[in-house]
Amino acid sequence: MSDIQDRIVIITGASSGIGEATAKELASKGAKVILAARREDRLQKLQQEIESSGGQAVYKVTDVASHEQMEELAAYALKEFGKIDVMVNNAGVMPLSPVHEKKIHEWDAMIDINIKGVLYGIAAVLPSMRERKEGHIINVSSIAGHLVFPASAVYSGTKFAVRAITEGLRIEECGNNIRTTIISPGSIATELTQAISGSELKAAIIEETKIAIEPASIARAIGFAIEQPADVAVNEMIVRPTIQQ
Ligand code: NDP
Repeated sequence: MSDIQDRIVIITGASSGIGEATAKELASKGAKVILAARREDRLQKLQQEIESSGGQAVYKVTDVASHEQMEELAAYALKEFGKIDVMVNNAGVMPLSPVHEKKIHEWDAMIDINIKGVLYGIAAVLPSMRERKEGHIINVSSIAGHLVFPASAVYSGTKFAVRAITEGLRIEECGNNIRTTIISPGSIATELTQAISGSELKAAIIEETKIAIEPASIARAIGFAIEQPADVAVNEMIVRPTIQQ
């Protein structure tokens, strides 16, 4: 029996890409997964897929940018399963653009989803984890949370913030037996680039992501962090294509 067996895991952004792959990976190892995102049709399809492979999954339509909806998500998980072992704050958007273009709505979306969404996810699960003196919060940052690229000023800002928030949480909560993990993916083949609104930039970024690796590579990294013994915390991982500079 792996240490993932019977773990209760919430995954945000489970309707595609890394979140979907993580849900499949963890469910295949016996975790009970709570799938969260906005697109219900995708969540329903994934739930059915996991269950027809013998896994266990439920879903709840959730906008991570809503504090209330994130609290409702955690309450739903607690009602269904009685505890939350792992929270994977994975949902994110990447509408890259140079700052001078002043795409304020896109900045707001990145700040609301990539930063506030992670904070709301932490806030929603922390009380029950502190009470049990056990838990694991995994936040998905990015290689753009370590390096800044042209047109990534705001996106990188949000991903640097995810790393700072996670490290702050680690310092505050390690004494409560709560583990934290920062996952920083490199180029991964998902729908993430679709939100880039500038057509030239979008084409250039899609060209750059030809080297991308499968989202299952990140799912396995997340599984690795979870399955460590309780006294071992994998605090940070960068996972990128071997050929990515
Ligand atoms: P996808 O676009 O495939 O997935 C993003 C997920 O986030 C979707 O499930 C989407 O679901 C969800 N999401 C977006 N906004 C919200 C919201 N307001 N509320 C709830 N869910 C939301 O991209 P990835 O799988 O690549 O992205 C996952 C994470 O990985 C992101 O944080 C991204 O920044 C990070 N990352 C990805 C890299 C890559 O190369 N792909 C590299 C580095 C980091 P829905 O629209 O249904 O709500």
